[in-house]
Amino acid sequence: MQIYNTFSRQKEIFTPLNPPKVSMYMCGPTVYNYFHIGNARSFIMADIIRRYLEFRNYDVKFIMNLTDVDDNIIKKSAEENRTAKEVSEFYSNAFFEDIKKLKIKSATVYPKATMHIEEMISVISDLEKKEIAYNIGGNVFYDISKFSDYGKLSGKKMEDLESGARVEINEEKRNPLDFALWKKAKPGEPSWDSPWGKGRPGWHIECTAMSTKHLGNSIDIHAGGNDLIFPHHENEIAQSEACFGQKFVKYWIHFGFLNIQNEKMSKSLGNFFTARDVLGKYSAETIRLFFAQTHYGGPLNFSDELLNSAQKGCEKISNLMETVENEIRKNSEDGLIPDFDFQKVRDDFIAVMDDDFNTPQGVAVIFDLIHSLNKIIAENSKINVKFFHEIKKIMHELAFGVLNIIDMEENKSSAESMDDQLIELLINVRDLLKKEKNFKLADQIRDDLVKLGITLKDTKNGVTFKKN
Ligand code: AMP
Ligand code: ZN
Repeated sequence: MQIYNTFSRQKEIFTPLNPPKVSMYMCGPTVYNYFHIGNARSFIMADIIRRYLEFRNYDVKFIMNLTDVDDNIIKKSAEENRTAKEVSEFYSNAFFEDIKKLKIKSATVYPKATMHIEEMISVISDLEKKEIAYNIGGNVFYDISKFSDYGKLSGKKMEDLESGARVEINEEKRNPLDFALWKKAKPGEPSWDSPWGKGRPGWHIECTAMSTKHLGNSIDIHAGGNDLIFPHHENEIAQSEACFGQKFVKYWIHFGFLNIQNEKMSKSLGNFFTARDVLGKYSAETIRLFFAQTHYGGPLNFSDELLNSAQKGCEKISNLMETVENEIRKNSEDGLIPDFDFQKVRDDFIAVMDDDFNTPQGVAVIFDLIHSLNKIIAENSKINVKFFHEIKKIMHELAFGVLNIIDMEENKSSAESMDDQLIELLINVRDLLKKEKNFKLADQIRDDLVKLGITLKDTKNGVTFKKN
């Protein structure tokens, strides 16, 4: 498998540090607004990459952080007359609702910045001991002149940055490019005790602390949108490598922007549609197919025309799956099993996806498959049900498992979905029992479900279930 590494600016053979384990960190949202469909592009493409690695039998630990302390959150809380905590909690919940609707697989952990202040203080203290960080009256800065490799990810030269950069003028800093690790508290702002007095962390230190805490000091993949290469990821490297003395990230993956009229969609420009707006018009599968039809690294223009064509693509998939489900229900062993090489389709899909996750070609393999299958079905009046099971299997693996552009829920038999709804109902009842401290009955529900082959798992985002 080859991955384009922003760091080397070329495709590299993917050799994880500790196979079959893969550690992957994705810079998540700053929770002061509903996320927009541009953010969704990065979240969905990261989801597809993670799902593909799992499909290739890697054991992926996927971490996506939530930045829940930040200037924008504080600004919003003043505007809305709510506390910063209320603002970040509200939009964190909205974030979880939206990614679920976009059928994004839950991360292994979603760490929140405010839950990792101790870890951040520890990294900053270490940098201060090494005389890489300096404290001026409660504001702590990173002295970039102490990190000789500064600029190695973005390819920026320090001299150019210093002369041309629009950096914030701050009399206190030794160098205009030095960045804040710890910000002294201002009245009314959220703050924490620290060796430098009350304050809050800078944005970059959050990701260093959360990724190293959950994935170790060296990780396989770090991902985020192109806008994060500089300064965010450059600064993360400077902090982590100076503190831990190890290469921070092996493969840097960056997502191209979703543009609107050739301009980056962004919260600050105001030229955005929220993911929930777009979900009101198009299904998650359509949105995912729209994104998968363009390589993750390049730019993409938001367009109703492309979304409508993705919708037609999804209809083609649903039509085929409807036929498949009908035939499986009929369960007829009469008729022939057409000679079709499903394994070759799998191999073709793997070949293109192994080449830096080439989803547009992966999608093409799936649509060629659909085209061939429709032809076979039209040409043969009687086909053995085994053939339809093969179709369901491959669509389940590629179109559902990896790209998730097919609504398997919709294709579930009504008995299966009734089962699931009843289990969800029991999970909700058990939650209520736990809230009322009736742990005995809550445990009994869990144990009885185990007897039926259903295991419940408590996760940070609620309880999930698995049917054995
Ligand atoms: P933010 O909440 O702005 O920090 O962004 C969350 C994630 O979305 C980051 O990984 C960003 O790089 C990414 N992102 C922001 N805007 C866009 C865009 N227009 N297209 C693609 N990704 C984006
Ligand atoms: Zn980050």
